[in-house]
Amino acid sequence: MTRLEQLASRLPEQRDGALVISQCNRRYLTGFPSSAGWVLVTQNKSYFLTDFRYIEAARRRVRGAECRMVTAVCPALLELCRFHGLERIYVEGSLPVRELTALQKGLPGIAVEAGEGLDGWLSSLRLVKSADELEKIKEAQALTEYGFDHILPLIRPGRTEREIALDLEFLIRRQGAEGVAFDFIVVSGQNSSLPHGVPGDKAVEPGDFVTMDFGAVVDGWHSDMTRTVAVGRVSEEQKRVYETVLQAQLAALEALKAGLSCVQGDAAAREIIAAAGYGDCFGHGTGHGVGMEIHEEPRLSPSAAGQILQSGSVVTVEPGIYLPGRFGVRIEDMVYITETGCENLTHCEKGLIELEG
Ligand code: ZN
Ligand code: ZN
Repeated sequence: MTRLEQLASRLPEQRDGALVISQCNRRYLTGFPSSAGWVLVTQNKSYFLTDFRYIEAARRRVRGAECRMVTAVCPALLELCRFHGLERIYVEGSLPVRELTALQKGLPGIAVEAGEGLDGWLSSLRLVKSADELEKIKEAQALTEYGFDHILPLIRPGRTEREIALDLEFLIRRQGAEGVAFDFIVVSGQNSSLPHGVPGDKAVEPGDFVTMDFGAVVDGWHSDMTRTVAVGRVSEEQKRVYETVLQAQLAALEALKAGLSCVQGDAAAREIIAAAGYGDCFGHGTGHGVGMEIHEEPRLSPSAAGQILQSGSVVTVEPGIYLPGRFGVRIEDMVYITETGCENLTHCEKGLIELEG
């Protein structure tokens, strides 16, 4: 079954339809990226509505839906709703109020329901990756690893965080990525204690940790990886913190499998960091799902009560220790959850790499 058919099968009644508007979910369902479009899903048939700018490309690339060009969307939708006898349309909870109101006005006699229903069906689909989807994520990760291998020789004292971040992006895009998964984080020295610091003019200095968090996009599918490397000689304390993060990460990797609660998955890493005395220095969740978005379900976090890991999910495992004003370490791999454990999709070295400095 295609993703569109799977969504259609979740509609409770024959007279129900789903209207998917967010860029990300439209692409997820049809494989086609565009800034404007509407996917109408009914139990019998699906439609992709878009305007003149995209219609030709849509007809070539949209899978599983009939493409129609529209100038005004509501009249076209209303006609399709009447044709299929629809009385209720589910839309995403993320839809801006302005657009929701316009739909309610433009579709007289049709109940437009935002949130819960459609959001739940889409997130349950997106939680479990198909073989093809996993393949794309692996391709994105391969580009990420290419970037890592090629950036190492370009990290040396005097080069700024910004230069390193741009070089990394250039390497990954030139190698064939559709784009970058997010604004890369490259932080060095005392900036490395900022989990989501922005690369700036600070130059790398001997004795710095350099933390790089980055990823690529292939056909809309993301990858996510973090490595912290040392430049020149680093202190015993830096090495100890690095080793603690590594042990925490390995413990979580060991623990993850289908059926484990997301809170337990988080705790596997967190307990090791706490036992080493750094409990207060790890203020974010241990991991998150990755797919059409860089952060999606499930979350490995102390606040993910009730969530259970499912076979087929792709999640990151990224504990860190951040000592404010001093330095920080984060190590992040991406894994595929199976019944018996997890397959690590990340192959880059994790032992402390000490670059010349
Ligand atoms: Zn990351
Ligand atoms: Zn991440």
